[in-house]
Amino acid sequence: MNLKKPRVRFAPSPTGQLHLGGARTALFNWLYARKHCGKFLLRIEDTDKLRSKQEFTNQICESLRWLGLDWDEDIVFQSTRNELYNSVIEKLMKNGKAYRCFCSKERLAEERKQAEIAGSGYFYSGACRNLDEKVVQKNLKNGNSFSVRIYVPEGYTEFDDKIYGNIRVNNKEIDDFIIARTDGSPVYNLVVAVDDNDMGITHVIRGEDHISNTAKQIMVYKALNYPIPEFAHLPMILGPDKKRLSKRHGATGVQEYKDQGYLSDALVNYLALLGWNPGTEQEIFSPDELIEQFSIGRVQKKSAVFDEKKLQWVSGQHIIKKSANEILDNILTYDPNWQKSEDNDYVIKVIELMKDRVRSLRDMQNMTSMFFKDPKDYDVKAAKKKWNDNSINELIEKFNNLLENIELWDTENIEIALRNLAESKNISAGKIIHPTRLALSGIGSGPSLFDMMQLLGKETCIRRLRKANKILPY
Ligand code: GLU
Repeated sequence: MNLKKPRVRFAPSPTGQLHLGGARTALFNWLYARKHCGKFLLRIEDTDKLRSKQEFTNQICESLRWLGLDWDEDIVFQSTRNELYNSVIEKLMKNGKAYRCFCSKERLAEERKQAEIAGSGYFYSGACRNLDEKVVQKNLKNGNSFSVRIYVPEGYTEFDDKIYGNIRVNNKEIDDFIIARTDGSPVYNLVVAVDDNDMGITHVIRGEDHISNTAKQIMVYKALNYPIPEFAHLPMILGPDKKRLSKRHGATGVQEYKDQGYLSDALVNYLALLGWNPGTEQEIFSPDELIEQFSIGRVQKKSAVFDEKKLQWVSGQHIIKKSANEILDNILTYDPNWQKSEDNDYVIKVIELMKDRVRSLRDMQNMTSMFFKDPKDYDVKAAKKKWNDNSINELIEKFNNLLENIELWDTENIEIALRNLAESKNISAGKIIHPTRLALSGIGSGPSLFDMMQLLGKETCIRRLRKANKILPY
C-alpha cells in the first residue's frame, strides 16, 4: 500500500493526435490524482525521431487542455534526457546487470529464422551473456558495434495490478532484452522505468496493451534498486463490432469531437464510463462529481465498447443542464460571428426553446437555422405526406387571415385561432399543424408549433405561410 500522495502521469507518444483511448487513460490518471490530492504529470515520449512531430505534441496538449485535464508540473520530454538514460545504461553495465551484445544483425536474423523453422518462439541465444572481458575489450577496440542487453534473472516477476489482479510471469519466457540499440539509443522499456522513477511516479495507470511490458520494466526497476510503483492497466476500448477501436469505426480523435460541437464536459463524462461505473444508476456527471466518485477499484477488466449513440445522449444531457447563455458562449468560442447580427435576446430564446432537442453545439446551430432564415425549400417526404392537395392551400390561407387578426401575438391566441379553424372545418388540428410547421420550418418535426410561432413573430409566420402556399403542394 502506497501512502504517499500519488504522482501519476500520462505519457503519450506524439506520433498522432490525442485519440479517445489516450484521452481515457489521461482522464483516469487525472481523476486519480485529483481524487487523492496528488499530482498529474505529462511526459511526452518523443524518442522515436522519425515518427514524433511537434505538431502532434501541440495537438495533444491542446486537446488535454480543452478536456480540462490540466497537468501540474513542467512537461517532461524524453528527447531531452539522453544523458540520464546513458548514465543509467552505464551504471547497469558497471553493476553487472546489463551487458554488451556484439551479435551482428545477420547473426540475430539467422537465429530468428532457425526459430521460425523449428516453429518455436524466438529467443536470444545468450551468445554474449558471458563474454570474457578480454573479448569485450577487443571488440570495442575494433570498433564493433554493440547493443546493450539486460540480464534477465531466473525466477518469476510478479505484480498486483489494481485492475487485473495478480500477474506472475516466469522469467524464462523473457529473453535478455535490449535496453540500448547499436546506435546507443535507449529503448522504451528502459526509459519508461527510468523516467517513472525519476519523476517519482507512484502509480502507473495505462492501457492494458502495456501489461506485457510491465514485467520487463519491473526487471529494470529491480536492477536499479528503484522502488516499484503500483500498476493499474485499463481495459481496451472496442468498436461496436468488438474489434479494437480504430479509424474504421469513425472519428477517434478528441479534436474531431470538439469540431463536431461536443461539450468537453460531456466527452469527459462519456470517457469516464468507458471501463468505469460508480455502482449506482447515475450516468451524468460533472468533472467534480467524477473526481468525488471515481475509484480505480471500480474499473473493470472487461473491454469497454464505444457507443456513439450513448455519447450523443450524454452530450444532450449536458446541454440541457447548461443555461442558454452558457450554450451561446460555448458556440461563440469556435464560431465567434454566429448570429451576431441578430438580437441577442432573440438568440437566447431560440436556444432556450431548442436546447432539450439537440445533442451537440453543432446540432444547435444546424437545427435553429429556421429561426433566422426563411426556408429555401421543403422536405419532400414531409410535403408529400402532409401537404398533398390544394385543399391544404385553402386551409392555410384561412389560417393566415386569422393570424393577421391576432392582436396579442402569443402561443395561446395562436392556438385558439388554429383550433377554431379546425373545429369550423370539422377536421383534426393536425391537418393544419403539420402543413403550418412545414411552411414555417421547411421540415416535418421540431419544437411545439405554437412556441415556435410566437418566437418567429407574426410577420415572419404570415410571410412564410404565404410563400409556402405559392410553392406547395409539390
Ligand atoms: N508512450 C506509450 C504510449 O503512447 C505509453 C507508455 C506508458 O504509459 O508507459 O502508448
